Amino acid sequence: MAEPAADPVAGSSALELPGMPPRLYLASPSRLLSWLTCPRQYRFAYLDRPRPTARPQRAHTSLGISVHNALRDWWTLDPARRTPGEAAALVRSGWIPVGYRDEGHSAHWRERAAAEAAAYLAANPPTDEPVGTERTVAVKLDGLALTGRVDRLDARLRTDDPGRYELVVVDYKTSRRPLHPDDARTSLPLALYAAAVWRMFRRRCVRVELHHVPTGAVLAHEHTEESLRRKLAEATSIASDLRKADAQYAEQGVDAPLLGPSPSPLCRWCDYRAHCPDGQQMGPEQSSWAALDSDDAPASWEE
Ligand code: SF4
Repeated sequence: MAEPAADPVAGSSALELPGMPPRLYLASPSRLLSWLTCPRQYRFAYLDRPRPTARPQRAHTSLGISVHNALRDWWTLDPARRTPGEAAALVRSGWIPVGYRDEGHSAHWRERAAAEAAAYLAANPPTDEPVGTERTVAVKLDGLALTGRVDRLDARLRTDDPGRYELVVVDYKTSRRPLHPDDARTSLPLALYAAAVWRMFRRRCVRVELHHVPTGAVLAHEHTEESLRRKLAEATSIASDLRKADAQYAEQGVDAPLLGPSPSPLCRWCDYRAHCPDGQQMGPEQSSWAALDSDDAPASWEE
């Protein structure tokens, strides 16, 4: 039975604007985060056309996609075949050998990722069929249409109201960096996904979980309606800045002051560094496999 319409989108007075509703601004959490990371990187990725050529895919991105695909496809197997070993086999069969130092390096990480995926599922055996995997979700706020993709959406019995179900957003992480205790609580994308899921399915969704496949750790956070509203307000505030930046770009092109560089240590990992003299001043580029061999890669650019 449908939940009462108490979702945070419906009650978000902070998002109401007087007068005529503005034209919808289409955005994803990735677009919002790209802007926050560096306005010039945002310009390269979302405004310049033709888009500047990005550097070739890095190894940790290949690994992340391989593991995400395997964990998605695992659910398409007959239930009797859903074993940790089958997850390892899916990682091996769908391995993307791009960005590694050489063939041996790729093979080493393929086996390691396969073993990690199997160990993760052995430590966290899912019981019920998920509501969806790699499910696209969307929500409209005043002036903003947000879309994104949830790795896994579970339906679980509520702990505060036994007998009723709620929806849970699950996000797989494959980076070498261990999870920080605040990662689930502070994640803007996870909160936006929860709000979108609540709206789309008309069922309570406040719990978000990060599943760190390399260690099997699960980090959960339970939002409140209020904390979800705050995240929605944050998203609309960022989108408001993006509108201004986009308009300025339409008038002034690459000279738009709002779209200047924001040099930082992240520049050593930036996909568009070759087009950015300011970023090149921040030190040599990191190798394509650097994020696998250290745990200090910037979190926002990891899978
Ligand atoms: S290299 Fe640095 S300053 Fe240049 S676009 Fe990338 S992140 Fe921004």
